[in-house]
Amino acid sequence: MDTKPRVVAVGAGLAGMETLFTLRRRLGDRVELALVADRDDFEFRPGTVYVPFGGAEDDLQIPVASPAQRQGITVEHGAVAWVETEPKRLVLTDGRTLDYDFLVLATGAAMRPERVPGLAEHAHLVGSLHQMRELGRTLRRLRDAAVDGSPQHALFLVPPGNCWPGPVYELAFMLETWLRRSRVRDRVCLTFATFEDRYMEALGAGLHPVIGEKFASRGIISHARSVVTEVEPHRVRFADGTAHTFDVLVSTAPHAAAVDYEGLPKDRNGFLLTDAETRRVRRTDAVYAPGDAGDFPVKLGYLSLLQADAVADDIAARIDPASVAEPRRFDPVGLFVLEMLDEAVFARTPLAMTGEPDRSGEGRRVGVSPIWHLGKKTLGAYLPQRFRAGHPVHGGLRQDAVSLGLRGLSKAMSEPVEES
Ligand SMILES: Cc1cc2nc3c(=O)[nH]c(=O)nc-3n(C[C@H](O)[C@H](O)[C@H](O)COP(=O)(O)OP(=O)(O)OC[C@H]3O[C@@H](n4cnc5c(N)ncnc54)[C@H](O)[C@@H]3O)c2cc1C
Repeated sequence: MDTKPRVVAVGAGLAGMETLFTLRRRLGDRVELALVADRDDFEFRPGTVYVPFGGAEDDLQIPVASPAQRQGITVEHGAVAWVETEPKRLVLTDGRTLDYDFLVLATGAAMRPERVPGLAEHAHLVGSLHQMRELGRTLRRLRDAAVDGSPQHALFLVPPGNCWPGPVYELAFMLETWLRRSRVRDRVCLTFATFEDRYMEALGAGLHPVIGEKFASRGIISHARSVVTEVEPHRVRFADGTAHTFDVLVSTAPHAAAVDYEGLPKDRNGFLLTDAETRRVRRTDAVYAPGDAGDFPVKLGYLSLLQADAVADDIAARIDPASVAEPRRFDPVGLFVLEMLDEAVFARTPLAMTGEPDRSGEGRRVGVSPIWHLGKKTLGAYLPQRFRAGHPVHGGLRQDAVSLGLRGLSKAMSEPVEES
C-alpha cells in the first residue's frame, strides 16, 4: 500500500479501545487509526455494581478524547448508520462518510426490555451508570422503609434472551450484605428468579451448587427455570403459572445487537456472524466484530478483550507480518469475579466456540473468598487506569504481573471443578 492503511473502529467500549490501543502498540506509526464514538466517555460497566451501595464513580467514566489523542487516534464524534464493503466505507447518521482499509465494528449489545411485557415500565434495569445511580436511590428508600418498620420485598430477575446475568446476581448478594450491615436484613425478603436451568450456567454447571449454597446460607429465596411472561405493577408472572410480588424489582433484559447492520451476515438478534478465531465477519474481507457486537453468545467484558486482542493481531499481521510473530487467536476462557461485598466467587471456565462450557476442557476453577472481593476491586482500578493512559489492558509488563498474580491467586484460592 502506498499510503498508510487506515483502520476505523466503531464504538468506544472495551473491545473498540482495546483493538485500537493494541494496533498502535503493534504497528507504531505504520497505520492510521480512527475511532467513531457516539459518546464522549468510555463507561467501565463492571465497576458500576458498587454505585448503588455508595461506591465512588470517579474511575467509571473515562473521557475518550485524551487517551485517543495521546495515541494519535482521530476521533469522529457520531453514530454509524450503515457500512459498505465495496467500496470500503461507512456512513454516519449525520451523512458523513469515512473510508477504511480495515473496519472494526465494536458497537456492543443493547437491552431489549420491550420483549417482556411490562418489564421496561416496572423494573429497575441494570446496564448503565445512570441506571445504577437510580437503583441506589431506590435501595436507600427501601432501607429507610425497613428501618421505619415496614417489611419490604426485593425481587431480582433474569429473563430469557439475556446473554450476561452476572450483575443481577452480584446486586442480589451485595444488597443482602448491605442490609445485614445496616441491621435491617430481617425486614427485607429477597428473592432471585432466573430463566436459566442452573445458576450462572454461561460459566458452566460448576457454579450452580456454589451459588445455590450462597443463596441458601444468606436466606435469599432462589428459583432457576423461572421464565417470566409478564410484569405488572408489584407482581411478576411466570410461565409455570406462579407469580411473585415485589416492592422493588431489579432486572436485566433480553439482549440484541446495539446496531443492526444491513447487508452483513448476522443472527436473528442482529449479532454479526464471525470466524471463530479471528472474529472477522463472515463473507467479508476486512470487517471485524469483536466483543458483544459479534455472535459469541456470552456477553462478558473479559471475553470482549480477548476477542479484541485477536482482531488487532490479525489486522496487524495482515498489514505487516513482521509486527506480530504469533498472532493471538480467540480462545474463549470465561473469567469472572462475582461480587458480594464481604466476599466474592471466582470462576474460570474454558468455553467451546459455541459459548457452551467446554466439557472436555481442563482448567475450570471455582473459589469463594474475601480475597476475591479485593481482587475484583484491584482489577476494577487497573483496567480504567490502562485505558486512561491509552494502553491496551492485555500486553505489557504490568499486565504480565497482574496475570501472574491472578494465576497464583487462582491456584491458591480456588478448586478445580468437574462439569456434570
Ligand atoms: C452492570 C454490568 C456489569 C458488568 N460486569 C462485568 C464484569 O464484572 N466482568 C466482565 O467481564 N463483564 C462485565 N459486564 C459485561 C461487559 O460490560 C460487556 O461485556 C462489555 O462492556 C462489552 O464490551 P464491548 O466493547 O463489546 O461493548 P460495549 O462496552 O457495550 O461498547 C459498545 C460501544 O459502542 C457504542 N455504540 C453503540 N452504537 C453505536 C453507533 N451506532 N455508533 C457509534 N458507537 C456506537 C456504545 O456507546 C459503546 O460505547 C458487565 C455489564 C454490565 C451491564
